[in-house]
Amino acid sequence: MGQTLTEKILEDHLVEGDLTTGEEIGIEIDQVLTQDTTGTLVWLQFEALGLDEVQTELAAQYCDHQTYQFDFKNTDDHRFLRSAAGTYGAHFSRPGNGICHNVHKENFAAPGKTMLGSDSHTPTPGGLGELAIGSGGLDVTVAMGGGAYYIEMPEVVNVRLEGELPEWATAKDVILEMLRRLSVKGGVGKIFEYTGPGVESLSVPERTTITNMGTELGATSSIFPTDENTKDYLERLGRAEDYVEVGPDEDADYDDQITIDLSDIEPLIAKPSMPDNVVPVNEVEGTEVDQVMIGSCTNGAYEDILPAAKMLEGRETNKTTEMIVAPGSKQASEMLAREGWVSEMMAAGVNFSEATCGACIGIGHVPASDSVSLRTFNRNFEGRSGIEDDNVYLCSPEVATAAAIKGEIIDPRNLADELGDLEDPGFEMPEKYTGSNVDLIAPDEAPDDELIKGPNIGDVPLKDELQASLEGEALLKMEDNITTDHIIPATSDILKFRSNIPKLSEFTLSRVDQDFAQRALDADGGFLVAGENYGQGSSREHAALCPMYLGVEGVLAQSFARIHKANLFNFGLIPLEIDEETYAKIQQGDDIEIVDDVAEAVRSGQEEFTVRVNDDWEATAHLDASAREREILADGGKLSHTKKQAEGG
Ligand code: SF4
Repeated sequence: MGQTLTEKILEDHLVEGDLTTGEEIGIEIDQVLTQDTTGTLVWLQFEALGLDEVQTELAAQYCDHQTYQFDFKNTDDHRFLRSAAGTYGAHFSRPGNGICHNVHKENFAAPGKTMLGSDSHTPTPGGLGELAIGSGGLDVTVAMGGGAYYIEMPEVVNVRLEGELPEWATAKDVILEMLRRLSVKGGVGKIFEYTGPGVESLSVPERTTITNMGTELGATSSIFPTDENTKDYLERLGRAEDYVEVGPDEDADYDDQITIDLSDIEPLIAKPSMPDNVVPVNEVEGTEVDQVMIGSCTNGAYEDILPAAKMLEGRETNKTTEMIVAPGSKQASEMLAREGWVSEMMAAGVNFSEATCGACIGIGHVPASDSVSLRTFNRNFEGRSGIEDDNVYLCSPEVATAAAIKGEIIDPRNLADELGDLEDPGFEMPEKYTGSNVDLIAPDEAPDDELIKGPNIGDVPLKDELQASLEGEALLKMEDNITTDHIIPATSDILKFRSNIPKLSEFTLSRVDQDFAQRALDADGGFLVAGENYGQGSSREHAALCPMYLGVEGVLAQSFARIHKANLFNFGLIPLEIDEETYAKIQQGDDIEIVDDVAEAVRSGQEEFTVRVNDDWEATAHLDASAREREILADGGKLSHTKKQAEGG
């Protein structure tokens, strides 16, 4: 049996394991991407690694999520990110230059490469044959430091495309059809690989709309093979040299297959408030629309906005419907402006926004209470628009523009019949992409060569190697089901300190004990004790990093939530399982000693550890860890482990 495209790229980059589905593999990463909300911690961790420059072929830092200013903290973050990119050799995209995935696609995405990004829509460049995966910030740091990325080998599912899209149907409708069929959980643990005769009818920007929104299926990634369209797109971008032919073998063996006949696709819409709540547009026709937004990393490209501009030529938006266009990149804004489309759309009633994520995460253009907003974005979770009682629908630019003209949801085919002179604008790429790109700063033109840290940017601590002896106070005894929100609350008044670990750490476990942080510092470290399911909730890395900063050595719990347990290893905190009786007996303030030569025992694979309490009684604790997790833990966490490996230790 032949190989899938996914297997080929993974095999080319494989440093550990084999490609058996479900088994852990380690792969080399060629490109990394970070954005501003995750990037500060990534670079602070990179600084802690002590390396002089990024080790990947390419790294790019974008400022797209928080570009509007409330106080100095955002701007301080941006300046720090610019200085970090300059210091360590990454490209820097200035605030307002565009959304990371759009700018990356235009400038760097390349077939056959692997990419890791600290943003969930990182798989977008799969439309150009790049295998791109979203991850946590520490994984990106480690990849930039030259470390492998570890992942369970996903299932590879073939999505076979046949036929061609009919009039008024778009790539957005293809991915909405996937969501309608498979739901938001349908892609978990999977990579969707698109093949079949229908592929060649889709341009690269259309393909990237599909790969972008594969994230809403829960997929690890989505990918297309390359062909003449890919070559053509790269040529128009002035990057012909990046083209390579990549694709699956003809007899590739897939774990599963789905067939979509493109000629059956019709305009679709996701109703509030889930991306898989998909119905044909004509099912919700007549719903009054208060706001229409075109943009985001899904449909913010030049090619996505041009159809809207053509539909609006010589027309006006409805008096009760506000229409906003927020291009995905400044290049798209600049080209549309030079070609006169911006003034054409303004004359029709459109407001233009800067090229950022903005409204996609509730920053700006928040809908009126209990109103309807049609957006070309990828997510419509309740409250994401910035108001709890929102009604956000997801659709193509064509469906959104039809609603802006009519003032209510209408299938654009029906609007065309009504108006008589409205034609399907089709999908058109520019002859050449001609943006000036002055806001994308290459490493060799960077204005900074040292880090600039404002008052809100602190250092990230590195943990020492695990020692033979491990002892300290039981700092806090907690109940069952302690969440990562208990450990580090995610409210904006606290998370604004995300770049300042010493400050953020002051809030560690404050919801359980106001004085915890100070007590931990005064005690010079110690242990946490908890019941069942410790660390459930989000994947927030700060929930392990902040206790580590305060000197916590480990957690004794009856059981751990999976992701948080992985984070404890990554930040060098030993997660030991204890039984119910031991949990009941240990009291806050007790002296705890792990009796064994802990460092040696962890490295050698020992599973049972003796815990001595108050020099009075003993119990057994269990360490459930893979060989790789044991090495990471013994080295003091993933950063220290990577640093050691980079130094050849
Ligand atoms: Fe995320 Fe929205 Fe920005 Fe895309 S546009 S990267 S989905 S916040």
